Amino acid sequence: MLRRLFAVAAVAGGLLFFRGGVSGESPAALEALPETDEASGFEVLRRTQPPALLSVRTLVVLATFEGVAPPTLTEPFVRETVFGAVDEYYREQSYGRLGFEGDIQPWVSLPIEPTCSVADVRRAALPLIDANWDFRTFETVVLVAPYGACGWAGLGSRFPETVSTAEGAVELLFAYINAAQFTPHLVAHELGHTLGSHHSGFLNCGVVTFASSGCSISEYGDYFDVMGRGQPLRHWNAIHKLRAGWFDDQRRVETVAHSGVFSVTPFETATPGIKALRIPRPDGNDLFVEYRQPIGFDAGMDQGGFSDVFQGVLLHIPGGFRKTLLLDPTPPAEPHRAALTPGRPFIDPLTGTRVVVLRAQPETLEVSVTLPVRHQGTYDLQ
Ligand SMILES: [Zn+2]
Repeated sequence: MLRRLFAVAAVAGGLLFFRGGVSGESPAALEALPETDEASGFEVLRRTQPPALLSVRTLVVLATFEGVAPPTLTEPFVRETVFGAVDEYYREQSYGRLGFEGDIQPWVSLPIEPTCSVADVRRAALPLIDANWDFRTFETVVLVAPYGACGWAGLGSRFPETVSTAEGAVELLFAYINAAQFTPHLVAHELGHTLGSHHSGFLNCGVVTFASSGCSISEYGDYFDVMGRGQPLRHWNAIHKLRAGWFDDQRRVETVAHSGVFSVTPFETATPGIKALRIPRPDGNDLFVEYRQPIGFDAGMDQGGFSDVFQGVLLHIPGGFRKTLLLDPTPPAEPHRAALTPGRPFIDPLTGTRVVVLRAQPETLEVSVTLPVRHQGTYDLQ
């Protein structure tokens, strides 16, 4: 099926920034594609070679409404947040693959009343500033405005909008930030949506890790991930990073095909090694295991010992369309204390897979994974 995509993908260690109709996102499928294909609308916008960094070119527009004084948010603060902290954060968590660069449109007053309709804001803002910018040189536009009580702090879309500009029709990704709630976390979160990641939630099944009924999902309940409540700038979990194409042969996700003991390296560093384990499950919701440590943007994430996040591994499963779910392998469910710590086994009720952390040290963690023995026949010989 033909889908519209406008995305970043890893190809042969480099990255593609592309748009168009592509039916798969595997590196092999993308590698085989032509640079442009008019029939499908596919077009490679930019290609980087390893170890080059892909900087997403971003214009931040500071806009207010008719009769509304511009918020106190200053241009230098916005610049430092988006092209300083958030750029650095993405460079770190993508292992040097992706960042943000660009410019700021200083405060402009839109000729419209305050509104929560971001489409109206987009339509009012672009003609007003069109003469200042060549929109063909940007991939993403962040519209910061005093949106007010709209029921959201920010929005970000992974699907581009086609807008008409003085230079012709241009496809752009848009994010919207309520000026009163402008924080590094919010900016990184909404830009995360434009990169294709959805929310990082928490699965709460009460006194068990999984159950077929009676569970609830906290949509933003992953406290260790910017796509959830991971304040201010916590790394994406392994599932989001895998989808974004940030792992490679050096920093890899090991699919567990047999029982054994695995050495996992801290998730935050770009040093070579296994950054996560992927344990297949028959329903397709594979279990991901990652070892978080107080390094870089994850420093202080345990809130002085309130959370056990650095003492073992975190477990995640996919949670619907581009969403993820943090599990608590040591119920009763408590999202701050969701690490699987040494010596305490987790047995997956769906598969019987047994996961035990043997040793956690600053540079490495050893984890034993025992896959269930499959009985192929109808007789159990025991
Ligand atoms: Zn969101």
